[in-house]
Amino acid sequence: SHIVNEYYLTPEMIKSFHIKRNENSHKGDFGKVLIFAGSSGFYGAGNIVAKSCMRSGAGLTTVITDKNNFSLNVFVPEAMSFPVNFENIEENFEKLENKILNSDVIAIGPGIGKSHKALKIFEKLISFEKNYKGNNIKLVLDADALNLLSENRELFEKIKNRSILTPHVVEFSRLTGFSPEEINKDKFEIAKEFSQKYRINLLLKGENTIITNGEKIFVNSTGNSHMANGGMGDCLTGIICSLAGQKYDLLESAIIGAYLHGKVADELLKKQYIINATHIIENISGFMNKIF
Ligand code: AMP
Ligand code: MG
Repeated sequence: SHIVNEYYLTPEMIKSFHIKRNENSHKGDFGKVLIFAGSSGFYGAGNIVAKSCMRSGAGLTTVITDKNNFSLNVFVPEAMSFPVNFENIEENFEKLENKILNSDVIAIGPGIGKSHKALKIFEKLISFEKNYKGNNIKLVLDADALNLLSENRELFEKIKNRSILTPHVVEFSRLTGFSPEEINKDKFEIAKEFSQKYRINLLLKGENTIITNGEKIFVNSTGNSHMANGGMGDCLTGIICSLAGQKYDLLESAIIGAYLHGKVADELLKKQYIINATHIIENISGFMNKIF
């Protein structure tokens, strides 16, 4: 390719990003992660994001979810829930503001749907740029957050300089207006230009996931077709927001996350035919131990 700033991910590169844990560190050092994922019929998406987030090392995880959803506490008891009354979402907004301002990272999108209520919560979550500590609140935007963004483009202004977007090719097609065929033909250039235009980091999922900050392009070397099933992307979102909470910058979080996510699947493929998100979640910590 004619692009010079192009890097193929290697285990050495991933290892070089690693931040060692101090002996005296506590859960607050590894990120307060707020997740808005899942809705009626799709609670699994929120559960998967939360569980992969905890299993890959975040300090504290809270999921914004309907007050009638109790499955989170069962599936991932380590996570907290922020119960929302979907009948009257504004009633929760004062408490939610405090939660937002206490967060280091907010992940938004999987299974939230494209309803007006989902949009209102999304807008609220991105309305503060900095948290109580004075740091930028990092945003990991996936799935329906990307679909909502495609239809409400004024929101791009609120997310710039602090976000990673993680579309698959169809979501990226909605975001850019290019067809999936056009994207696949020229994905490096389209991804870079999009990243520059909106000042966001981008992870474009697929057989060879690419990650860009608008200058450099990183090409993932791990992953396989046996992981092509529902929940797999939600799992990646959980890993990326977890790493962002652990003080990796968003570009590094996406690079490490994509590499590990695919690497776990490649290793599991040696002993099983199909890999689901649950398998990644159960095994990711073991692989972090190997690589770090
Ligand atoms: P999503 O489409 O949001 O569920 O995300 C699917 C995840 O699985 C992404 O991280 C993809 O990179 C990964 N994946 C799906 N199919 C393949 C494939 N054929 N080769 C490598 N990775 C894949
Ligand atoms: Mg997805």
